[in-house]
Amino acid sequence: MTMMKATVFVAPGRIELVDKPIPEVGPNDALIRITTTTICGTDVHILKGEYPVVPGLTIGHEPVGVIEKLGSAVQGYVEGQRVIAGAICPSFTSYASQDGAPSQDGSYLIPSGQCGHHGYKATAGWRFGNLIDGTQAEYVLVPDAQANLAPIPDGLTDEQVLMCPDIMSTGFKGAENANIKLGDTVAVFAQGPIGLCATAGARLLGATTIIAVDGNDHRLGISKVMGADVTLNFRNCDVVGEIMDLTGGRGVDSAIEALGTQGTFESALRVLKPGGTLSSLGVYSTDLKIPLSAFAAGLGDHRINTALCPGGKERMRRLMNVVASNRVDLGVLVTHRYKLDDIVAAYELFANQRDGVLKVAIAP
Ligand SMILES: [Zn+2]
Repeated sequence: MTMMKATVFVAPGRIELVDKPIPEVGPNDALIRITTTTICGTDVHILKGEYPVVPGLTIGHEPVGVIEKLGSAVQGYVEGQRVIAGAICPSFTSYASQDGAPSQDGSYLIPSGQCGHHGYKATAGWRFGNLIDGTQAEYVLVPDAQANLAPIPDGLTDEQVLMCPDIMSTGFKGAENANIKLGDTVAVFAQGPIGLCATAGARLLGATTIIAVDGNDHRLGISKVMGADVTLNFRNCDVVGEIMDLTGGRGVDSAIEALGTQGTFESALRVLKPGGTLSSLGVYSTDLKIPLSAFAAGLGDHRINTALCPGGKERMRRLMNVVASNRVDLGVLVTHRYKLDDIVAAYELFANQRDGVLKVAIAP
């Protein structure tokens, strides 16, 4: 067999399942046979043409699968082993990686046109379905496999670890970046899959009052399962006023933004205490305005942190440990299942948020 099915971006508004050659395995690569993958909100941005990728690129960045073939230089794994890799696959050899920012690992294309692995480029650690062929296919090539392949612990199903490559890693990073301490009050703005994981992460890190905000009561119901103490539907209340009341006018210790709009960012800043941390996860598509009063004219000792999903095998190992130890159950986020052959229909459902969808598991 030399060909495989792959979901490619064709033009804004159009993806297709096509036949592509199964990739050749270089010395540092691993070829993974995908057993389960999923669709991310970022893929919908790509589908709509809001995030540009090259036409013909295979999209998707959340791989769960089996090692089909290992590159000659990759040690310590066996073919047939079940593995995941992070949505972000840093080389761990760049200056950015060694400076503690592996997700910003780059740039892969230097001006001379040669491939480089040395500098910094925002988001360039994100390669699957962005810079190289992604995971919504029968096979995917994992680059720098030694750094990125994480064996799945025995006893965990594909769906139990499906959130680790991106959604859980990103959501938890949002909580980690929020500098949460025991006993903190944390507001989480937006309860899509990533926001729900941020809620779960805030709980695990020791927040004792978690206020989850969304406009969808179904999602707010799941927020409670993930650890929210209070849920607020912004369609029914003045969220900023409610949160200031709930905190006795003090504001929250940390606010996590998990959507990427002016409204959520601004509300997060408006409820933040002086000296508090705003942890932003959203992908923004317009310029942000910082409201002067909430920003205390720049004198409020506020910290604003942004993040791209951390990747690498150690991050994946830790996240799978959290799942294996039953500290959190993210299986509830998988609401729908589709065959790869029907992925266009899965996009249709997911992009339009029909039928209570949170995440769609895609299997060959
Ligand atoms: Zn994603």
